[in-house]
Amino acid sequence: QAIYQTQNLQKTDEKYLWHAMRGAAPNSSNLIITEADGAWVTDIDGNRYLDGMSGLWCVNVGYGRKELAKAAYDQLVEMPYFPLAHSHVPAIKLAEKLNEWLGDDYVIFFSNSGSEANETAFKIARQYHHQKGDHNRYKFISRYRAYHGNSMGALAATGQAQRKYKYEPLGQGFLHVAPPDTYRNPEDVHTLESANEIDRVMTWELSQTIAGVIMEPIITGGGILMPPDDYMAKVKEICEKHGALLICDEVICGFGRTGKPFGFMNYGVKPDIITMAKGITSAYLPLSATAVKREIYEAYTGSDDYDRFRHVNTFGGNPAACALALKNLEIMENEKLVERSKELGERLLYELEDIKDHPNVGDVRGKGLLLGIELVENKQTKEPASLDKVNKVISLCKDKGLIIGKNGDTVAGFNNILQLSPPLSITEEDFSFIIKTLKESIFQL
Ligand code: PMP
Repeated sequence: QAIYQTQNLQKTDEKYLWHAMRGAAPNSSNLIITEADGAWVTDIDGNRYLDGMSGLWCVNVGYGRKELAKAAYDQLVEMPYFPLAHSHVPAIKLAEKLNEWLGDDYVIFFSNSGSEANETAFKIARQYHHQKGDHNRYKFISRYRAYHGNSMGALAATGQAQRKYKYEPLGQGFLHVAPPDTYRNPEDVHTLESANEIDRVMTWELSQTIAGVIMEPIITGGGILMPPDDYMAKVKEICEKHGALLICDEVICGFGRTGKPFGFMNYGVKPDIITMAKGITSAYLPLSATAVKREIYEAYTGSDDYDRFRHVNTFGGNPAACALALKNLEIMENEKLVERSKELGERLLYELEDIKDHPNVGDVRGKGLLLGIELVENKQTKEPASLDKVNKVISLCKDKGLIIGKNGDTVAGFNNILQLSPPLSITEEDFSFIIKTLKESIFQL
């Protein structure tokens, strides 16, 4: 009976459901999940897995938090919807709370997804320059291998050719530079060449045409690429020199993933615009935000109707999602999950020191509970490991009950980075299980 039900659902799934995000795991590993609790999910056949990939979707406080469901339910009963053309209490309180987390003076624009938060940021930045009388600043610089979203602007900013091919032409005015990668270019730590390249591109393109730079503090989807510690501060300095804005995409790095409230806080900079999504509600409901420095917001004044930010959005900042987000941040604070992410991240790197002895492990890196393991064929040449090897580790982990994923960039030839990013709320037992399973699987390669 149970087998029959599973097969039926699988058939219906194949027939009617068009899946997003397929490709992070080998095809055979797709699951139909029916229950979830803490760091663990259960599939339709009763198999249990620790979700070591939840960092990609940012279920930071873990699954099964009834308080979150209740916060949304209570809000839906009390006042389910009213647009932010007016206002409502959960959005007001959340905007204030986000300012506490950001530690500075930002004005918050709510939307529904990470892509939309980035799209909004581009529009805000371009119009900001117009408001200041600078009518030619429309170009954005981002990095190859970075992912910024699925819509025509956010995809244009994305630096992964395989995601854009067949959808072009995309939004205009997006330029790319090589990402920093301290594993493959260790000398960059001293030369900061990857940042200097942004300076050169701005000069050659003409400073007065550049609207801004968008970057994640650590490139996540493109392979957990660690920048030199001084990289982001250098980019900010370059932006200031050329009159461009620095937009920081915190869609994955935000809300504790890298051991700080926001990823940029690891690097001592204050971006002009910060985009966030996923972890804001621990992915329980769709919500995203674009946080804008007050000076930028204040440029949006004037008597002309066109001086307003003319960007309409029906669902952004809906009351239930805001109420849930507030409860989510309260849990993060009460359980000190940002600090826990930092501590567990340090322990993770320490405990995994010995996998570096394996001939296929080129690099183990990360911050907080965001870990990348770069598999190579040859440690000297750093030739990326074959997809078979990468998939084998993922399958071995899955057979033992641990979901991990891979990321990188197909066209660039780097699809060889294993990603581990469990909920920030994992228990000590979960932590030991992750270490044991990862080590066993890697040493079975
Ligand atoms: N930016 C980054 C860094 C992301 O990882 C993602 C999603 N993986 C996005 C933006 C887009 O977010 P969404 O899927 O919510 O549109």
